[in-house]
Amino acid sequence: MSNIKGKVIVITGASSGIGEATARLLAQNGANVVIGARRTERLATLAAAIRSEGGSVEYQTLDVTNQKQVQTFIDFAHKIFGRVDVILNNAGVMPLSPLEALKIDEWNRMIDVNIRGVLHGIAAGLPLMKKQGFGQFINIASIGAYTVSPTAAVYCATKFAVRAITEGLRQEVGGDIRVTLVSPGVTESELAESISDEKGREEMKEFRRISISPNAIARAIMYAIEQPAEVDVSEIIVRPTASL
Ligand code: NDP
Repeated sequence: MSNIKGKVIVITGASSGIGEATARLLAQNGANVVIGARRTERLATLAAAIRSEGGSVEYQTLDVTNQKQVQTFIDFAHKIFGRVDVILNNAGVMPLSPLEALKIDEWNRMIDVNIRGVLHGIAAGLPLMKKQGFGQFINIASIGAYTVSPTAAVYCATKFAVRAITEGLRQEVGGDIRVTLVSPGVTESELAESISDEKGREEMKEFRRISISPNAIARAIMYAIEQPAEVDVSEIIVRPTASL
């Protein structure tokens, strides 16, 4: 029997891109997926598509910058299915710009969604997982968690932070709770659409020519989940073959 079947997998930022592809793949493999994001209509459409293929899915509107909403989201999953096996902290934004453009609101938005959003997921899920005696956090970082590039200082800082938080969590919880960091390279999604700065937008256009499918990241996430309980895949980097 697949190690995915029957698992309750909660996904933030599932209305497009990597989150959406992962929800589809895991549901196709028998998981109960619980999907959240701000765009409720997109979630409803995705849920209908998953159900039409016989998959199990529930959805709830979610803004990960709001701790209460994240707690309600995790509680919603737990109430319906009686357990939570995996929390995939995937929601993220990437409005790139050079620091000198002083897009302070965008810096704060990245910090709020990319860092605080992940912390909110941990805060909402950790007590439950400790009580259950099992669980897995999968946090989505980026290749930007390892190197910094122009226009991406703040974005990379948030992803360095996600990597640090994930490693710290792994060291602290150990035992029955698994902790995984998945770091994608450039992947087809709507992520670059939030770039308001012209320079950041131009740089990204060139960079995104070699994008890989979000399914490639979904498969890496599934790999980390389907390992036996005693196997903790701590870190995976998936990038286009063509990257430098
Ligand atoms: P998308 O823009 O397609 O997806 C981002 C998702 O995050 C959307 O579902 C969006 O939904 C959600 N989101 C944004 N803000 C919030 C919020 N405040 N609360 C809840 N959900 C939110 O991009 P990707 O699929 O590429 O991004 C997924 C993750 O992968 C991100 O963490 C990103 O940083 C990371 N990543 C992506 C790479 C790439 O090249 N695509 C490379 C490296 C990492 P909604 O707007 O409906 O809320």
